[in-house]
Amino acid sequence: METKAAIDENTIYNIIKETGGSGITLQQLSSNLGLPSKQISLILRKLIEKKKIAKRAIKENGKSVIKYFALEDYDSQVIYIKLDEVINTPCFTCKNLFKCGNGSYISPQSCYKLSEWIFKSINSA
Ligand code: SF4
Repeated sequence: METKAAIDENTIYNIIKETGGSGITLQQLSSNLGLPSKQISLILRKLIEKKKIAKRAIKENGKSVIKYFALEDYDSQVIYIKLDEVINTPCFTCKNLFKCGNGSYISPQSCYKLSEWIFKSINSA
């Protein structure tokens, strides 16, 4: 069973999706749904966090207007990436792999092997 918040999120997402490339403003959503804009703002923020919609400033009749647009459904997208270069990353054969991490003494930010590999990859591209 869906919660009230989930139903509201889906309803708002579907309305935004139906607008396609035109997008919709907060005020339009508020008036269409008969809900206070503050309540809709909270739901919009959750949808943005879930990367289901995007908030963009666009020019309409010379004025800047904030509108919401539906993003592609990432769950249904297939993304192909070439792993030829990635497979040669020094991390795959590094003895420090399990000690290495952001904020650790050994980290990708301070690793000369990784930096060297990145620079070689850039230069050979
Ligand atoms: S970033 Fe450097 S130290 Fe960390 S796993 Fe990769 S090669 Fe090893």
